[in-house]
Amino acid sequence: MFDLVVKGGRVVDGTGAPWFWADIGIKGGVIAKVTRHLDSDNIIDASGLVVSPGWIDVHMHADHTVLGNTRIESYVHQGVTTATMGNCGLSMYPLQKHKEDLVAYLKPFTSGLKLKWDWADMDGFIKRIEEAGPGINLVPFIGHGSIRINVMGFEDRDAEPRELEEMKTMLREALGQGAYGMSTGLGYPPGTFTKDHELVELGRVLNEYGGLYSTHMRGNPENLQDTIALGFKAGMPVQVSHLGSSCGGHPELHGRHRETTLKAIDEARGRGLDITADIYPYTAGSSLLSQVIPDWAHEGGVQKMLGRLRDPKVRDRLRGEYAAAAGKKGRDFAKVMVTYVKSARNKNLEGMSVAEIAGKRGVDIVDALCDLLIEEDAEAMNVTFWGQQEDVDAIVAHSAVMPCSDGWGHAPYGPLGQGRPHPRCYGAFPRYLRTYAVEKHLFTLEEAIRRMTSMPACRFGLHDRGVIREGMAADLTVFDPENVRDTATFSEPHSYPEGISHVIVNGRPAIRDGEHTSELAGKVLRKR
Ligand SMILES: [Zn+2]
Repeated sequence: MFDLVVKGGRVVDGTGAPWFWADIGIKGGVIAKVTRHLDSDNIIDASGLVVSPGWIDVHMHADHTVLGNTRIESYVHQGVTTATMGNCGLSMYPLQKHKEDLVAYLKPFTSGLKLKWDWADMDGFIKRIEEAGPGINLVPFIGHGSIRINVMGFEDRDAEPRELEEMKTMLREALGQGAYGMSTGLGYPPGTFTKDHELVELGRVLNEYGGLYSTHMRGNPENLQDTIALGFKAGMPVQVSHLGSSCGGHPELHGRHRETTLKAIDEARGRGLDITADIYPYTAGSSLLSQVIPDWAHEGGVQKMLGRLRDPKVRDRLRGEYAAAAGKKGRDFAKVMVTYVKSARNKNLEGMSVAEIAGKRGVDIVDALCDLLIEEDAEAMNVTFWGQQEDVDAIVAHSAVMPCSDGWGHAPYGPLGQGRPHPRCYGAFPRYLRTYAVEKHLFTLEEAIRRMTSMPACRFGLHDRGVIREGMAADLTVFDPENVRDTATFSEPHSYPEGISHVIVNGRPAIRDGEHTSELAGKVLRKR
């Protein structure tokens, strides 16, 4: 007898093969049978619906908020059953030396949650998650930025040989504890303080362990070529994170991703580099508000930066740099929207651009920005409208690219219901299906599902997931292909998608008839 049967749905099995009719019998958290006419006392009626493997998000930031709400609701409601953590160089671990620096830097990502920060390494953090029971499966990475801050704080210089050895030891430790690889955040400190030789040395450690190099690249137009060179030097497989935005949405590349970045990926693959990429299906990105402040002002960490922003001479220097960037069609503060601030008194600014805030306060943009960061102790987030739809379309369509969200775990209540986070936190996956498969026909439904399931599972080494087949883990997403759609917008982001009926994690329904069941059946999947 099965624990649960999903009955009467069109099965899109994750391989890209055409859909077929089948019932799915689940026992002990595993897909036990895929055939017609199965029965059980516990049936999910999937007639009129598509049954697919649970969706896998290869790039998101659940680790920043998971200890505040382990259901990770904004993800499970969008059909995601497995996601990576520790991305963009900024994992919540290790917390050893320079702990204060790292905690201050990570805090704005945590939506004002009161966390204990009482773990020392990845293993300790994972145990905290396991004690609570996560709502979805999590795949750990370790962040290069977090390693570097642990070893040398926010110092803008090369690592000394002794420090580099310490970083390698920390990386080895995390890989030994089951990390799938190392992520980087090279577009902001301390990634911007890092030279390539440091990354090559760490990459060689990754290579020893079969780890993946998952990279938020530098924000210049050459960044992909640099990444490719790095991949060849270290001999490591490369995953380019949120391709498009991590080219800085660089104005030189606007409208040209097909003949620049995508061509470079094809050529590198042709020359034997194991390189793939992911993208979130929007033309706007999101990060710390402090990331619009240039690198030189971050040296020494958050408090040092805030101290500098008080200095009128520093503000004059910022004015000069922003004006020069604007001449090259760089930073436009009408496109930088403040989405979260810590303090109650500034909550009315959430949803306004930095340019609008300056207008409202009757000061110039630099004063508005610096004052706000100081008032908020840097605990503020932004959404930046960087991109061109034609580039997003070209990148989404490319055969080496899979979808991601790059979002945070939210829920429409409590601390995680605050602010106006990027709508990708609630809608990236339904949007990928709706906009790019159903409406734009960039690929078939089966191909879209493949890129959301077996493609990431193979890429990240999740060999018992991503396909509906007997013996695989029973992660399933059951949805209505006619009506699946994202509803979260930049002005009203805290809104679940439509058309996702049932979401099963390790054999247990987390979403049943569109409602959360309170099941917490996820696991932290350590690499073995
Ligand atoms: Zn990133």
